[in-house]
Amino acid sequence: MSDELDTNNVGEEQDINKERLELALEAAGLDLWENDLVTGDVTRRAHKIFAELGYGEHEATPYVYDMFRIVHPEDIPVVKVAVADHLTGVTPQYRCEFRLRSKSGAWVWFANYGRIMDGVGSPHGKRFIGVTFNIDDRKRHEDEIEQINRKLAEQNAQLEQMNATLQELAATDSLTGLSNRRRLMEVGENECKRAKRFNHPLSLLILDIDLFKRINDTWGHPVGDRVICAVAEICRRGTRSGVDVVARIGGEEFAIVLPQTDHTSAASLAEWLRATIEAEQITVSEGGNTDTCTVSIGVATLDGGGCPSFDQLLNSADNALYRAKQGGRNRVLGLMDMHDTSARISSGNTELA
Ligand code: GH3
Ligand code: MG
Ligand code: MG
Repeated sequence: MSDELDTNNVGEEQDINKERLELALEAAGLDLWENDLVTGDVTRRAHKIFAELGYGEHEATPYVYDMFRIVHPEDIPVVKVAVADHLTGVTPQYRCEFRLRSKSGAWVWFANYGRIMDGVGSPHGKRFIGVTFNIDDRKRHEDEIEQINRKLAEQNAQLEQMNATLQELAATDSLTGLSNRRRLMEVGENECKRAKRFNHPLSLLILDIDLFKRINDTWGHPVGDRVICAVAEICRRGTRSGVDVVARIGGEEFAIVLPQTDHTSAASLAEWLRATIEAEQITVSEGGNTDTCTVSIGVATLDGGGCPSFDQLLNSADNALYRAKQGGRNRVLGLMDMHDTSARISSGNTELA
């Protein structure tokens, strides 16, 4: 009699537990499935998800028995690997995410979570139990966030590109494409520090077109611009790309920073520029008329020992240029020793120091 009561109680308790489980599964939107690993039978099949995907009871039958028929082709290997990894003990749980085709044809994201449960007295797991649940909202949010992030990254890259272009523009002279005074000062100060640190010479040329007003007055301002560009081109041609910096620092005035260049080399470059510019026939009219111009150049060199600033170097080159103008123009004049304020004619069509 008491055995019978016990059996009834156990049965009741099991029924209640089953109801509790069903309630919990329903509330959580979980679809439970179970496989018997010993017999290979599917002892409980997921079925709720098919209604969720819009299939009627009969339509769903083939998929209930073979869910792979509606798994996204790209996700089939993902699911298979996840199952195999768990069954072979690689992973402590079986987890995977995959898409299922709804009746309307749309792909809906689901996840599986499962584990091998130890059977009583069995050395290995006997049952493979898991749940399937809808994660479509989460996935779509993830996709949206990913798209937003990708767009942000693209916009950032564009901004960086625009910033770089703006910086380049802010440092460039629009007429000649050479560096402007701002860039010259930056580069010059850096080169000055490097020259002192490594005890290298650093030279600076300042070049000014002689009597440029005459060119403007004779041929007009646009032709004057063309002459400025022609001089700029010769400066570019005569200097080392990526090493020397040529800048337009005034209307018809240029500066050239020459790192690791001693006074003699700087003066001979200045002389080459002077002679090349003098020889250049610049087209000044539609009819093909040409004109020439000359330049005066001041050279200054920081030669290791002293420690003047770039401003001082600029001043010295400017002084030398001034003296070249005073000396009759179309000439190169150099200040070799920054501490020696007396100018030395370094080369050109006149004298040498
Ligand atoms: P100097 O030999 O003493 O240098 O005589 P200069 O005539 O070259 O010197 P000055 O400084 O008296 O005149 C420079 C002229 O350059 C005056 C100005 O109108 C002209 N100029 C300045 N910027 C530009 C420009 O961008 N384009 C043109 N075409 N002319 C300019
Ligand atoms: Mg001039
Ligand atoms: Mg000038």
